[in-house]
Amino acid sequence: MGANILIVEDEESILELIAINLHQSGFTPIRALNAEYADKLIHEAVPDFIILDWMLPGMSGIDFAKRLRSNTSTKKIPIIMLTAKSEEENMIKGLDSGADDYLTKPFSPRELVARIKAILRRKAPELIDEPIQINKLHLDPTTYLVKSNGTTLQMGPTEFRLLHFFMKNPDRVFSRNHILDKVWGNQSDIDDRTVDVHIKRLRDSLTLAKHHKLIQTVRGIGYRFCENHKQ
Ligand code: CA
Repeated sequence: MGANILIVEDEESILELIAINLHQSGFTPIRALNAEYADKLIHEAVPDFIILDWMLPGMSGIDFAKRLRSNTSTKKIPIIMLTAKSEEENMIKGLDSGADDYLTKPFSPRELVARIKAILRRKAPELIDEPIQINKLHLDPTTYLVKSNGTTLQMGPTEFRLLHFFMKNPDRVFSRNHILDKVWGNQSDIDDRTVDVHIKRLRDSLTLAKHHKLIQTVRGIGYRFCENHKQ
């Protein structure tokens, strides 16, 4: 559910360290040991974010960043460059190549995750899995817990994803098809009545805490999570 982050790094221990930390932060890490393989992966599926090492065997990180920036389908992907070089001149080159930010090795994984979140917050806030609090309802995407006034509400994984989607997009009306697309992904065999079934289950889960009215049916269109509903 978290953003897909492609890591291009030829030092396997660093690659693995980054991947583990990204996974723990709710992101989906994708690994590449060189730019050529990364390029192949990007052709298969465009990632949401790229962490790119400067010194790579074959094509350098800088050249790869420039190439990504010159291609329509990849030019908007945020990039953080990793470099062992701390000379200012190289940092400037890194940013000139189109990177959004850079980190000098050795860096703390926590710092890297903080930088990624800062960029995503600015460029693609819908991709960060941060806890959301609306009225008395608190949802934490990393622990998969929904609480109301400190009490955990029980719900299935689909209802959780549905609620997460609604809480990230309060007050907007969504059609069943739109919800299917965003919450279930590209599973074309699913009927849009499935949405109604899970909305009912979600409302049931929220009933005990009297939050069920937060999810409103919009006749003829779909559903809306109404942030300002009076309890
Ligand atoms: Ca390297």
